[in-house]
Amino acid sequence: MNKYQPTIGIEIHTQLATKSKMFCGCDNASVDAEPNTNICPVCLALPGSLPVINKGAVELAIIMGLGFNAKIAKHTSFDRKNYFYPDSPKGYQITQMDEPIIQEGYVEILIDGEFKRIGIHHAHLEEDAGKSTHPAGADYTLVDFNRAGTPLVEIVSDPDMHSPIEAKRYLQEVYAIVTRLGVTHGDLQHGNFKFDLNVSISSDSKLGTRTELKNLNSFRNAERALTYEIQRQIEVLESGQKVEQETRGFDDTKGVTFSQRGKEFAHDYRYFPEPDLPPLVLTDSFIKSSQAHIKDIKLPIDIRKQLIDAGLSEKEQDILISQPTTCDIYLDAVQKTKNAKSHKQVLNFLIGDYQAWLSDNLSVESKLTGNNLAELINQIDSGAISSKTAKDIFPEVILGNSPDKIIKDQGITQISDDSELENIIKEIITNNPKAVADYKSGNEKALGFFVGQVMAATKGQANPGKTNQLVLKLLGDN
Ligand SMILES: [Zn+2]
Repeated sequence: MNKYQPTIGIEIHTQLATKSKMFCGCDNASVDAEPNTNICPVCLALPGSLPVINKGAVELAIIMGLGFNAKIAKHTSFDRKNYFYPDSPKGYQITQMDEPIIQEGYVEILIDGEFKRIGIHHAHLEEDAGKSTHPAGADYTLVDFNRAGTPLVEIVSDPDMHSPIEAKRYLQEVYAIVTRLGVTHGDLQHGNFKFDLNVSISSDSKLGTRTELKNLNSFRNAERALTYEIQRQIEVLESGQKVEQETRGFDDTKGVTFSQRGKEFAHDYRYFPEPDLPPLVLTDSFIKSSQAHIKDIKLPIDIRKQLIDAGLSEKEQDILISQPTTCDIYLDAVQKTKNAKSHKQVLNFLIGDYQAWLSDNLSVESKLTGNNLAELINQIDSGAISSKTAKDIFPEVILGNSPDKIIKDQGITQISDDSELENIIKEIITNNPKAVADYKSGNEKALGFFVGQVMAATKGQANPGKTNQLVLKLLGDN
């Protein structure tokens, strides 16, 4: 065992995909809204206004709890966390301290081919703050309260992770769960999924002091920040100094963490029960009816196990699981294709050509369906079209067109007819005596020349296997 053992715990803030805010009726979609237009007396905390719990947010939290194999608290309550910051109009945040709605869960991550459980200590409902912006060169700060009151679930893990890659895997798994369940839009750029990483180093089995890396929103940067921070703490310990408990930021460009704030303790916030909200008591029937919404949704872990059984590599599993829509296309298409070899072709299209198309066409909507992809693969399998033709028409299939119809309309069925191919090949042989002589003198590359010529003459529609076979045969006869 290493002398130094890192221990990592993570807090994730997930913005919920509700229609309205956590405690008022304001629109919860403010990405394109003008500053301070989605606000009301409640989220501005004007005197006399009272919060009301958003039922939709509670339902989404219950759904999320299922994804974490967690207990749903039937008796749950809200607390005030007091702090002053300009983007918090109340001067406090309504959160859940003593009775969080989600308790004692776990997720499973795949590490070195083995599943490992990471505990979820609890997850609680709360509200987001507004946003401060500091215009470049200005000596003032602007505050936008549109985000104030956005429903959040903060997911608090157990300190079960011991390497940057485990932390990254955990983040990716939780993200896959919450997006698959549809409880968040999962827009990383707009703060739908942000996280704080707590990390300490224990040496000689003595627990170390932890630092907190705040406000990350990229899985890759989480791994980079932890790698740097673990090394930094080891160097502090090696030099005989103590690690300070503090909040640190991550400089994406330099790849380093840096000190932001000194020690903070929970009692700084003077938590007390929220006097404006009664405890929330959930009935069994309400919990059941919330969960009924997701009875047909497969969790990422179950999909992963299915993909492992189908023989997909870890990288292939990761791509599909990180793209729920692509994953659904895969699962649907393999059901509709004929054999195991076709499954590999489905995968190759989705991992290769489709990924390339997606990154080249960011502003175009993909309308690829499992049905159309299966149709395309079945056309290759039956010999009606070549793989090359399938690749050529794939972009049209992605735009929602049926492969059967494209093939019929464009008359691009593969030429597999022997006599038709033979006539084409004979003509090419007659017209290229030098290449024939090359081939006869033992130049294997000349074979490729003839196949290429056939493909050119047939606009790629010649059956490649047949063409190879016939070129060999006719050159031998010649
Ligand atoms: Zn409001």
